[in-house]
Amino acid sequence: MQISAAVTRSAARPPVLETLELDDPRAHEVVVRVVASGICHTDLFAPLMYPLPAVLGHEGAGIVERVGSGVSKVRAGDRVVMTFGSCGGCALCLQGSPAYCEHGHHLQFGGSRDDGSKTLRQGSEAITGSFFQQSSFATYSLATERSVVKIPAAMPFEAAAPLGCGIQTGAGAVINNLRVRAGASIVIFGAGSVGLAAVMAARIVGANVIIAVDVNLERLELARSLGATAAIDARADDVVGRIRALTGGGAMYAFEAAGQVESISAAIECLRRKGVCAIATVPKMGEPYAQTLLPLLVGGKSLLSVLEGDSVPDLFIPQLADFYLAGQLPLDRLTTNYAFTDIAHALDDAHHAQGDQARLADGLMH
Ligand SMILES: [Zn+2]
Ligand SMILES: [Zn+2]
Repeated sequence: MQISAAVTRSAARPPVLETLELDDPRAHEVVVRVVASGICHTDLFAPLMYPLPAVLGHEGAGIVERVGSGVSKVRAGDRVVMTFGSCGGCALCLQGSPAYCEHGHHLQFGGSRDDGSKTLRQGSEAITGSFFQQSSFATYSLATERSVVKIPAAMPFEAAAPLGCGIQTGAGAVINNLRVRAGASIVIFGAGSVGLAAVMAARIVGANVIIAVDVNLERLELARSLGATAAIDARADDVVGRIRALTGGGAMYAFEAAGQVESISAAIECLRRKGVCAIATVPKMGEPYAQTLLPLLVGGKSLLSVLEGDSVPDLFIPQLADFYLAGQLPLDRLTTNYAFTDIAHALDDAHHAQGDQARLADGLMH
């Protein structure tokens, strides 16, 4: 079928809307009419590592248009959010950690279906699709049955879209990866959408001390209004010392969502003994981590890597939708709407840290 999609042809230039041909759904695939799509940090650096020309976008939400053979989870007309791809058959999927699927890297970044076949073209030219098994910067997406999750009728698409990656990652880091308990203390580095989702989740689980650290005072203010009990300007002197003072000697948990080597070091150092630090970013991609691991090793501390908040999307996304509908996850306060035709502007704003979860309300939703 013909679709309109934002095609990125160069890492140096914003995408342009073009008409493409989308493959028909095969067995266990679903075509979704995209109504809204989030912009996540990964969309911003993907042009540097993804085969171009390509259609990016991996936080799509919309209405099922048609389904391939064997699909039983959804049918045409269902309201869904699209999330990351997972194979369903590897040891990690079977153990209930599809976010760490052994095929995950290929499924999110391989530019094709799991079997290697391509899904988008323009005439005889292949366009790379299947980004996170969706490529949602388009009027229609081809998703796998495994990666679509139904959302409640009352959930607006604009709020549902970021549940597919950024919000799931931040909230899941707190609820699934760290399993933060009531009464605990947690420090969250980075008050972008992922960090703010962690702040809201920490409040939901009843953490007693929730400290947000960022360089942006406006974001720190927002973090406070969403549940942070303290906010620290990362440029201030002795950030670790201030965290120790606020937590009576050190935090039980730290979550790093700022993507800075310095904040990873601070996230480890600010922990009390046996504290746990979760990292959701890849700072300075590929460069060695030159800091000492001593603070980690002498204190019985742990470090873990967060992928998609260790979410089982079929369980966790409905839970997050319930939190939203109950007013506990006020995503509307984090996001800005743009028309789909204004995607270059939205990406530019996201680049300039106006909110990396800027939503795209599809201008062609009618
Ligand atoms: Zn798997
Ligand atoms: Zn993402």
